Amino acid sequence: MQDKLLIGGELVAGEGEALSVLDPATGQEVAAVAEASLEQVDAAVRAAEEAFVSWSRTTPGERAQHLLALADAIEAHGAELAGLESLDCGKPLASAEADEMPLTIDVFRFMAGAARTMTGSAAGEYVEGHTSMIRRDPVGPVASIAPWNYPLMMAAWKLAAPLAAGCTVVLKPSELTPLSTLRLGEIVNGIFPKGVVNIVAGRGATIGDRLINAPAVEAISVTGSPATGMAAMRAAAQKIRHVHLELGGKAPVIVFDDADIDAVVETLRGGSYFNAGQDCAQPCRVMASAKVYDRLVADTASAVGSIKMGGQREDGVEMGPVISATQRERVSGFVERARGSAEVVTGGGSGAGAGFFYEPTVIANVANDAEIACQEVFGPVVTISRFDDAEEAVAWANASQYGLASSVWTRDVGRAMAVSSRLRYGFTWVNTHGVGTPEMPWAAMKGSGTGCDMSVYALDAYTAIRHVMVAHS
Ligand code: NAD
Repeated sequence: MQDKLLIGGELVAGEGEALSVLDPATGQEVAAVAEASLEQVDAAVRAAEEAFVSWSRTTPGERAQHLLALADAIEAHGAELAGLESLDCGKPLASAEADEMPLTIDVFRFMAGAARTMTGSAAGEYVEGHTSMIRRDPVGPVASIAPWNYPLMMAAWKLAAPLAAGCTVVLKPSELTPLSTLRLGEIVNGIFPKGVVNIVAGRGATIGDRLINAPAVEAISVTGSPATGMAAMRAAAQKIRHVHLELGGKAPVIVFDDADIDAVVETLRGGSYFNAGQDCAQPCRVMASAKVYDRLVADTASAVGSIKMGGQREDGVEMGPVISATQRERVSGFVERARGSAEVVTGGGSGAGAGFFYEPTVIANVANDAEIACQEVFGPVVTISRFDDAEEAVAWANASQYGLASSVWTRDVGRAMAVSSRLRYGFTWVNTHGVGTPEMPWAAMKGSGTGCDMSVYALDAYTAIRHVMVAHS
C-alpha cells in the first residue's frame, strides 16, 4: 500500500508519528501511515512556492493537458482507487466504483476545459491616451485541506480548480482516510512537474495547522467542519490570504401537500443513507406539510427499514458503517437526546460486531427548533417535522446556521420558484435532491462556507482580478 508523502516531486516516508488507519467495517487496522513532520510540511510549501514560478506561467492549454492526463490515469487505476476508498471509509465497493469514481474523474476533465474559458472584460480606453485591460491571475501556492467522507472526490475538488487556475497545491487528506489520496500522489507524480502538487498526511491540529499558517501560502481551501473553517479564517487573518470554505450542512427537504410522495420517499431512502449519511448535502431535515406528514412518516419508515447494512463487499449491501467509533458515539448521542421529545420510528441503535455500524434511522414528531433538526448529525439519521404554510417552512429553513443544500417538493411550478428564490442556501433542488454535475457550483452560504467547488465559479477562489493600464505615449 502506498504510504509515502509527495514533496517536491519525491515520494518520501513521513517523519512523524505512525497513525493507524482502520477499516470502519471491522475496526481492524489496515495500515499505519507515518504523518509528515513539521519540517516536511515546510518543505512541501517551499516546493509549491518554487514550482509556482513556472506553473503560473503555463498556458491554460498546457494545464488542461496535464489535468486530462491525470483524469485518464485515475480512470486507468479506477478499480484500485475505488478499492482503497471503500476499505478506508467502509463504504460499499460498488458505490465507490459506480457513484464516486466517475464524478471524481469528470471533475478533472471539466476543470481542464474550464482553465481555457477564463475571460475578463474587453480592453478599452477608459482614460484618454491609456488602454486598460483586465487580467485574471493565479493567487499563489494553495493549502488544500480535505475531509474523510469522500477522500478522493474531495481531493479532486481541492486539486483540479487551483491547478486549472495556475496555482500550485499542498494537499492534506484527513488523517482517518489518507490511503486513496497517497496513492493519487504517486499517480500525479508522473504527470505534473515537481512541486506543482504536494501531498502531506497528518492530523489537523498539528500538520494541518502548520500548513494553513505557512507564510508562503496565499490561499487556504478547506472542505471540512465549521471548526476547521474558523481555524482557516484565523490563519488567513495572520497574513491576509484568500480563503475558500465548504463546510457542514443541514439540508432542509420541504415537502408540500401536492408533492409526489413516492418520489420523496425513494430519494430519502437512496440519498439520506448514501455514504451512511456522511454527506454535507444529505437530505436530512424533512419538513412536511401537515396534510402529507403522516403518510410521509409511515412510508419513509417502511422504506428505510429495508436498507441493507453491511461490509464493503457483502452481496446487496446498501449502507456501510460510519467512519469511526467517535463518529458513531456522536450520532448516537444526538439520537438519544432526541428520544425525550421525538419518536424514533425506525433504527436508533448500533449494529452488531466490531465495525462502526449505526442503523438507518428515522425520527418523527421533531420540533423545528430541536437540536436534532438544527445541528449537523453527519450520520444515517433523518428527522421529519411539520409545517403549516410556505411562509413557515421558509422561515424555519432560513433560521438554520447552515446554508448549503436544500430541496423543495411540489408540482406547482410557481410555488417551487417562489420558495427557491427565498431560500438562503447555496443550492436548491426542485423535486429531486443530491444530483451533482461539475458544470454547476457546489455553493455555500452562511455557516456552510464561502464560494463554491465545481463549475467555472470555483476558479474565483484561486484567481485575482488585476488591472493593467498602458499609457500610449
Ligand atoms: P474536519 O474539519 O474535522 O476535518 C477536515 C480536515 O481538516 C481534515 O483533513 C483535518 O485533519 C483537517 N483539520 C482539522 N483541524 C484542523 C486545523 N486546526 N487546521 C488545519 N486543518 C485541520 O471535518 P471532517 O470530520 O473530516 O469532515 C466532516 C465535515 O466536513 C462535515 O461538517 C461535513 O459537512 C463537511 N463536508 C463539507 C462538504 C462541502 O462540500 N461543503 C463536503 C464534505 C464534507
